[in-house]
Amino acid sequence: MKITRRNFLQMLGITGAAAGGISHVWAIPDQWVEKLQYGPRIETWMVSTCSQCPGGCGIRVRSIDEIPVRIFGNPIAPVNSGFTCPMGEAGLELLYHPDRIRQPMRRKGKKGESSWEPISWEEALGQISKGFQGLLKKNQADRFGFIFGDRNTLLTHFAGDFVARTGSANFFPWRAPGINELGFWQAFEEFPPLAFDLNKTDYLLTFGTNLLEGPPSPVYFNRLYGKLKESRPRTGLKMVHVDARMSQAGKNATEWVQIRPGSMGVLALGMAYVILRDKNIDEEFIARYTQDFRGGKEDFPALVSRYYPPDKVSAITGVPPETLLRLAREFSSSKAPLALSGGVSDRSETALFTQWAVASLNALSRSFSVKGLWREPVPLPWGPTPVPSVNTRSGAFSLKPQLAPESDRPGHWASEELPHLRSAGKLPDLDMLMIAQVDPLYLSTDQKPWQEWLSRIPQVLQFATLIDDTSPYADLVLPTTTYLEQWDITLPVPNLPFSQLGLQQPIVPPLNGARPIGDVLLQLATETGVTLLPEKSKSYAGYVEARMKPIFASGKGTPYFEAVSLNFLEELRKLGWQVYSYPAFADFWRLLQEKGGWWDPGEYPEAEWKKRKKFTFPTVARFDALLKERVLLRYGQETQKGDTPLHTLLEAPSRKTETPDSFLLAPFTTLMNMTGEGASQPLLQEISGLIPRVYWKPWAEMHPERAKKLSLQDGDLIRVVSVKGSVTLSVKVVPTVSSEILAVPFGKGHKESGRYAKNIGTNPVALIDPLVDPLSGRTSWQSTRVRVEKVNK
Ligand code: SF4
Repeated sequence: MKITRRNFLQMLGITGAAAGGISHVWAIPDQWVEKLQYGPRIETWMVSTCSQCPGGCGIRVRSIDEIPVRIFGNPIAPVNSGFTCPMGEAGLELLYHPDRIRQPMRRKGKKGESSWEPISWEEALGQISKGFQGLLKKNQADRFGFIFGDRNTLLTHFAGDFVARTGSANFFPWRAPGINELGFWQAFEEFPPLAFDLNKTDYLLTFGTNLLEGPPSPVYFNRLYGKLKESRPRTGLKMVHVDARMSQAGKNATEWVQIRPGSMGVLALGMAYVILRDKNIDEEFIARYTQDFRGGKEDFPALVSRYYPPDKVSAITGVPPETLLRLAREFSSSKAPLALSGGVSDRSETALFTQWAVASLNALSRSFSVKGLWREPVPLPWGPTPVPSVNTRSGAFSLKPQLAPESDRPGHWASEELPHLRSAGKLPDLDMLMIAQVDPLYLSTDQKPWQEWLSRIPQVLQFATLIDDTSPYADLVLPTTTYLEQWDITLPVPNLPFSQLGLQQPIVPPLNGARPIGDVLLQLATETGVTLLPEKSKSYAGYVEARMKPIFASGKGTPYFEAVSLNFLEELRKLGWQVYSYPAFADFWRLLQEKGGWWDPGEYPEAEWKKRKKFTFPTVARFDALLKERVLLRYGQETQKGDTPLHTLLEAPSRKTETPDSFLLAPFTTLMNMTGEGASQPLLQEISGLIPRVYWKPWAEMHPERAKKLSLQDGDLIRVVSVKGSVTLSVKVVPTVSSEILAVPFGKGHKESGRYAKNIGTNPVALIDPLVDPLSGRTSWQSTRVRVEKVNK
């Protein structure tokens, strides 16, 4: 295509008058303006890896005269094979955002006020390193902490290593648990959770798991669902989605089972009841690889038969007894049943209870014995200098640290609860806190304790691309590069059945004076005498390159390559051939930059059950012990004692709605805005309400029966009132939600985050009663009762 000046500028969304630097969407750096207007129009392409979510998609960026103009999928990236989701496509709107921070900012007013003065990088770094040196001199490294939004890249490990090497244990990665993660961790202390191969199942039962609109990798699973749906007539695959709202996963399933929020674990145990009654269980797996299945009064069958008969389960879940019976029989009679839990089920007060119950359903019903269905993630060949594991404050979540599971995983899941953990005496007072890649003041359901905690810490330092809702509580904000301006490696995506490392490389040099977080940490480490890089790399880019050397030396895997049959590849390998020739590391490194990453095309091997700890079934005694040991529903409050077994407390959140105007609030995420950060990008705002056709404004989905009772019609305005406050929303009357919930999209209603997000819509999290799953520390989004009032226009 011949690129004329006119169509080039149109492509950028820039009119002639605006081509002085700022379009209505993109702010092109001043130094590019001349090139933009008169350049020779030379087209180039570079590959990298998207980091708008942790999904690991490879991207190809088209540039004209070295100015990136469009993001496409990398056709040879194994996760996405050339496809992207809307967030992947919108990345340039973040790169060129007109409100990007242009230099370090120091707070001028009181904490909580968005009032700043610009300072130089030298001044900012000088202030931080002085603070650091003071702490290290006084042996008070433990008064330093770092909250880090984990995007599944090497940078999380690097930042964790930075904290550990200063002598502090206060590194808090912030991320949601992966599919099955809570359940597998509880049942056999398995981390990362096992991968699974959807091609091998003939009965997929998803408990809230929406693989198509959120992590671990929505593009990968959208492609796979497409193939599975096409092959259904031949394979007979049945896909059942259990949820209170019919998400995309429900729409693409063969059956959607409506359920009351918070009660999915009860349904799983009700199904276990039927399966046990039918004696249709995997006797061999249970006998060899599990515990607490046979032990009399205290075993799993005793828990299930006493507390989860179908009539009781039906009353709690709202699922009719005949549906429950049918699901249990279909699942246990299929050849390759697979039950997954995650997504909304992780955002309830019963998150861990649910996942443990769902994992038990798999253990009971032959799922774990199906050849190739469950896969063993193979550790990467990082070599003798392995990537340091993230060091978190182990046991911070437990009332009795010695009884906490050996793993430090609860610390990961409970980052939202840090101010409460501080009040409960489980964290030291901090003098310096760094925050990166996460906006706690937007995401937290309990903002006041966050405001108070951050206000008490003398030095809060934030790495940010845009001023966000947390920034007013920072003392210094440091402008940070986007993923399109920095080096990094995206690590293998949890749950996917193969290994890959997606290379991130700068498509353009850092814009607007931003710096990569890795380089800033490296500089601080040098100035404070902390040894951070054994390889003596001078930059984070050097560190990334050094990390790939053992991968090259191992001879395993290959840079991404054009699709060929795996059998053909295997034959080549047997003959000693590699897809590419890279005799020296420099050749390998060059190929990675040309192709976009490394992968091991051989899929992970089958899970080997004899290698791991026995699968522990839940029992009454185990639930009791866990509820006593871990931080409880409300901090400091003792669990009730008496005749009621403690685990029945976990059923309480799924109680029925009581009055005609009362609903359970059910916030949900969309593919356009998984973490809420998408709101900063106008393309994503524009298409966020594509299905209900309401676009920039959020809406509330209500079942037609309830709407009729309240005399509401599509488009009417309602006031939604909770114990926390009220918001006004427009109603969408849809049959795709259970009649007991009011479903509201998450991701809008930012106080900051740039001009396209600021004060646009409402944040449903602000309505949420801040309740917590006592077993995992996950904040619940699914337990808030709201009242609805019609607003007269
Ligand atoms: S799924 Fe995630 S990684 Fe893939 S294109 Fe979308 S935002 Fe990027």
